[in-house]
Amino acid sequence: MDAQQLIEQARRERRASLDELSGKRLLAAFGVAVPKSIVVQPADALEAKLAGLAPPFVVKVMSPQILHKSDVGGVRVRLQSVTEVREAIDAMRSNPAIAAHPLDGFLVEEMAPPGQELVIGGLKDPQFGPLVMVGLGGIFVEVLQDIAFRICPIERIDALEMLDELKGKALLDGVRGQRPVAKEAIAELLLKIGGPRGLLMTLEADISEADLNPVICSERTAVAVDARFILTDRNAP
Ligand code: ADP
Ligand code: MG
Repeated sequence: MDAQQLIEQARRERRASLDELSGKRLLAAFGVAVPKSIVVQPADALEAKLAGLAPPFVVKVMSPQILHKSDVGGVRVRLQSVTEVREAIDAMRSNPAIAAHPLDGFLVEEMAPPGQELVIGGLKDPQFGPLVMVGLGGIFVEVLQDIAFRICPIERIDALEMLDELKGKALLDGVRGQRPVAKEAIAELLLKIGGPRGLLMTLEADISEADLNPVICSERTAVAVDARFILTDRNAP
């Protein structure tokens, strides 16, 4: 499915946002690296369904009503086998904080290579149009608010400058024996989101907010392991 088809499908289903798999397909359509993932239903024969994925696995609950999956116990990482995936799904289904909601299924995916977590986002300013943002993950987003913004479209030099503006940028260069991360790959990703032919400019009429949280940046790669896209309200004046 191409980008427009993914959006039309969500609109037909009267969703206000794309589910995680559709969000990741949308990212992939713009060349952004995402984990290999599939959706499974509890009744599925998992052995066959997961044959194309390599462990360790991640399991995530999918529900239009659950925005912060970890908060309700809806994310399990580092699962080593199909049996562990089965157990994780069963545990989520019997968890009241999850069972209370309508579920689309369970996303099973591969683990991204370990690294530094960043947040990349987009939103629409009524005056300036799409804005792209990058920030350091974890407590940096929540407490330190270490982020950089630009009006789209951005060029490569802007993307690199944004990274340079972060107060915690030393983390990207590798502190205390950690390996440096692929800043080039992060800049590329920022262009795929906020560049002239990027997602935000191309889909300006349909996407009101984008949240890639986190993007896991290793020495070589920048992989978006969570994706949320909020659709514009077509009925708004
Ligand atoms: P939430 O809805 O709680 O934000 P996420 O999909 O972001 O759920 O997953 C929570 C955390 O689990 C992420 O911040 C990341 O640290 C880890 N994680 C999720 N998916 C992966 C993955 N494919 N590879 C490695 N780590 C992951
Ligand atoms: Mg997340």
